[in-house]
Amino acid sequence: MNATIEIVPSILDRIRKTLVGLKMPRALEVLDQTVRQLERGEASALEVIDTLFAEELTLRENRRIKMALRMAKLSTIKTLAGFDFSFQPSLDRNRILALAQLDFVDRHEVIHFLGPPGTGKSHLATALGVEAVKAGRSVYFASLADIIGALAKAEREGQLRERIRFLCRTSLLIVDEIGYLPVIPGGGNLFFQLVNARYERGAMILTSNRGFAEWGEVFGDPVVATALLDRLLHHAVVVQIEGSSYRLRQHADLMPEHVRSKASINSPIPAQPPRRRGRPLKHGANDHQPAG
Ligand code: ADP
Ligand code: MG
Repeated sequence: MNATIEIVPSILDRIRKTLVGLKMPRALEVLDQTVRQLERGEASALEVIDTLFAEELTLRENRRIKMALRMAKLSTIKTLAGFDFSFQPSLDRNRILALAQLDFVDRHEVIHFLGPPGTGKSHLATALGVEAVKAGRSVYFASLADIIGALAKAEREGQLRERIRFLCRTSLLIVDEIGYLPVIPGGGNLFFQLVNARYERGAMILTSNRGFAEWGEVFGDPVVATALLDRLLHHAVVVQIEGSSYRLRQHADLMPEHVRSKASINSPIPAQPPRRRGRPLKHGANDHQPAG
């Protein structure tokens, strides 16, 4: 049995030069070992070609994603795979996985993640952002305070229009932490200008620990809050998380008993979410208003 093939060294040299000329460093790196597989009869010629191109493509994709994540300011990478859905039974896993298909980005919709601190709002928003980056969409992630800070600075410098245009360029804008910090005077108005500019033109994900009824207080201006919600609840998906803090679960022993039992840290998580009687699931109520 002799399936081995001898590769002429001069051809190999030429391939190396070509790969350098084509700027294919990864293919160049794996060339020798791949050709050895061919010589030993462990891979066909077609498989060798496939390997060289696939390796190069993977390298490029990884580089592109790394760069795009940096541009998106998605510094702490969270993934859907890293999200423990069993810890958050109020959350419908399939619903989140459906969002990860990114149709909401193409439809310029708004996703709201609402819930108490530590329930995974930022994690899920980031994970969807990462999915969007992987799928080739442009993303920008910032806290509300940072966005308003940047808009206020731009306004002082006479650059507001440009700043808003910059924040309208990405197909997905993630605004994290609405409601944690008081909005600076005039901040609600600046944020409204941004939201209005993106309205029906680009998708957004918002996270908040406060209900919509409290937005007047959050933005220090009920009129601005109403105008904001008018845009942000049209073509919107509202995901309400009603669980306990994932952060605190690791410190169960340090927590007072009444908080611990409320956070159900010691109780095993039921394999199936408990059936609710009467009242329909809250997070289903505001689902998907019809477009148009
Ligand atoms: P929130 O934004 O709602 O305050 P985060 O998304 O920042 O909460 O979550 C707090 C921390 O706990 C983060 O490190 C996050 O990755 C982690 N976390 C939260 N929920 C889960 C979960 N269900 N599975 C895995 N990690 C989680
Ligand atoms: Mg958060």
